[in-house]
Amino acid sequence: CRPVPTTARIAAAVTADSLPTRSTADWRALDAAHSLHPFTDYKALAAEGSRIITRADGCSLWDSEGTEILDGMAGLWCVNVGYGRRELVDAAARQMAELPYYNLFFKTATPPAIELSRRLAEITPHGLDHVFFTNSGSEANDTVIRMVRQYWALEGRPERRVIIGRQNGYHGSTVAAAAMGGMSAMHKQGGPPLPDFHHIREPHHFKYAHDQDPEVFGLEAARWLDEAIQAIGPGRVAAFIAEPVQGAGGLIVPPPGYWAEIQRICVHHDVLLIADEVICGFGRTGQWFGSQTFGIRPDIMTLAKGLSSGYLPIAAVMVGQRVARTLFDKGGEFVHGFTYSGHPTACAVALETISIMDRERLVERVREDVGPYLMERLGTLRDHPLVGEVRGRGLMAGVELIRDRASHAFFSPAGKVGTRCRDHCFNANVIIRAVADTMILSPPLVISRAQIDRLVSALAEALDRTQRDLP
Ligand code: PLP
Repeated sequence: CRPVPTTARIAAAVTADSLPTRSTADWRALDAAHSLHPFTDYKALAAEGSRIITRADGCSLWDSEGTEILDGMAGLWCVNVGYGRRELVDAAARQMAELPYYNLFFKTATPPAIELSRRLAEITPHGLDHVFFTNSGSEANDTVIRMVRQYWALEGRPERRVIIGRQNGYHGSTVAAAAMGGMSAMHKQGGPPLPDFHHIREPHHFKYAHDQDPEVFGLEAARWLDEAIQAIGPGRVAAFIAEPVQGAGGLIVPPPGYWAEIQRICVHHDVLLIADEVICGFGRTGQWFGSQTFGIRPDIMTLAKGLSSGYLPIAAVMVGQRVARTLFDKGGEFVHGFTYSGHPTACAVALETISIMDRERLVERVREDVGPYLMERLGTLRDHPLVGEVRGRGLMAGVELIRDRASHAFFSPAGKVGTRCRDHCFNANVIIRAVADTMILSPPLVISRAQIDRLVSALAEALDRTQRDLP
C-alpha cells in the first residue's frame, strides 16, 4: 500500500507539466482527427478548425497563441466565481488526498456529501431540505422525471405521468431531458419523441405580444399551462418544469405576474412545480436562486453549473418535504443513481465555491452593482437599428436582433445573423453567445465594470459589422 500523499506533493504534481507542448496547428490537427464536439456543426468545425483554450484567470481565457479572450459567458453560464481560484484547487487537492472517491449507494455516506447537503438545505428556499446528487444538469433533470413518477406511483396515482415543459426550454441532453425540454432541433434528431411529455409556449413577450401590456400577457401566458392541463386531463399530469428565466432558449425573462399565476395553477390542479435552476441558481439573477427573484415556491429544484462554478462536474436535485416524505414513508428502494453521485471531491469544491460566494458577497454584488450596470450599459444599444429588445435580470442578459423594427419583422431563417454577430465578437476576443438571433451575456459574477464596458463596446462594434454584412 502506498503512503498517503501529502497535499504539498499533490500540489507539486498539479503544477508539473502533464501535457506535451504542441503548436496550435498540431492541437487543431489532433482535435480534428479524434474529437467529436458537443453541439457543434461538424462541417463548419472541419472548415474553420477549433480555437484551443489553454488557460484562464478571473474573467479571461487565453488561447494557444497567447491571445487573451474576455469570457462574457462564464464558460457555459457556470464559472460564477471566475477562473483561477486557488481555494478551489486546494479544496480538491485536500479532499483527493483524504478520500478521492467513495459513493452514496447502499447506506454509505461521506463527510463532504453530508456537509454539502446540509449547506444546500440551508441556502435554498422553502424547505427544500433533501438532496439527490448527480453529475450534470441533464442527469439532475432525468432524476426528477423518475422521482416525480415514483412519487405519484407511491401516492397511488401512477396515471399521473405527464410532465409539461415549455417550448425552447432546455433541461439537458440525455434522451429523457431532451424530451422534457422544448428544443425542436433536439426532438427531430433521434427518432420519435418519448411519450408523456408536453410543451406549452414560453412567455416570450417580444416575440408573441410586443404591443400588449406585459402584465396582461404574463397572465395569458401562464394560462397556457391551465389550458394544457385541462386538455391532457388534470389526473394525468405529474409536474410542470421551467427555468425561472429561460436561458438557452433565448433569455426569456418572465413578464410580471407570470410565475404567481403558474404557481396558482399548479396548486389548483395539484401538479408538482419544478424549477430548473441550473443557470439561474447561485447568484445569477441577483438572489441566490431565481425562485427567490420571481417568488416561486417549487416542490423540486435542480442545480448544477454554479454549484461548483464549473470546476468539477456536480449537480443536485433539491427535494421539498412533500415529495421527500412520500419517498421515505411509502417508498422502498429508489432504483436510481450514478457511480459519482455525491463525489466527495466535487462536493468539497462545491462547498468551497459557496463559501467564496458568501465571503465575497457575490450575490449582493450582482444585485446591487454589476447587474444593474450591465443592464444600463446594454441599454445604450437600444437605438442600434439591429436591436429589437434588450432584456435581462441580474447578470444574465439578452439583446434580440430584428430585421425591421417598424414592422417587427424577424430575420428568416432565424440564427444566421446572430451567429455572424457572435463570430465578430469572438474574432474581437470577446465571448458573447448567440441563441438564434439573441445575443446572450452571462459573465462571471466577479466581472468588473471596466470589463462590462469592454463586453458592451465589443458587442456594439460587432453589431455595426453585422449590419454592414447584411445584403
Ligand atoms: N438545465 C438548464 C436550464 C441548462 O441550461 C442546462 C445546460 O445548459 C441543463 C439543464 C443541462 O445541464 P448539463 O449540461 O450539465 O447536463
